[in-house]
Amino acid sequence: MHSDPNCIFCKIVAGQIPSRKVFENDEMLVFHDVKPWAPVHFLMVPKEHIPSMASVTEEHAGLLGRMMAMVPRLAAQEGCNPYPEGGFRVVANTGAEGGQEVHHLHIHVMGGPRPWLKG
Ligand code: 5GP
Ligand code: ZN
Repeated sequence: MHSDPNCIFCKIVAGQIPSRKVFENDEMLVFHDVKPWAPVHFLMVPKEHIPSMASVTEEHAGLLGRMMAMVPRLAAQEGCNPYPEGGFRVVANTGAEGGQEVHHLHIHVMGGPRPWLKG
């Protein structure tokens, strides 16, 4: 599986940097954001180093579909309140103008009672 030795999320995937794990399987790791914007804020990353949504092609459709399909279960597990009064926000910042700081594809999932710090 492709990984980048200088990438902070590859290091988290490899266990070289600790994280608070939410879920893991053979193709994805889910962990709490170190600087949460919301009462619930976790990140979903493919284990493979994909730099951003801008690099996604049809070959990633299955992986991304499986990641998105996990969101409701993990959001509820981590304390997001039920839809429609509760809910959650799903964000993939992409590139400089998209606000992306870490260049390893990640999906932010945020939820919990407002107000939030951001978003
Ligand atoms: P971006 O701005 O690229 O969409 O989001 C990167 C996110 O990664 C930020 O919300 C930031 O707090 C989080 N982050 C950056 N470094 C680490 C880290 O070492 N551990 C964890 N758990 N989150 C990180
Ligand atoms: Zn990476």
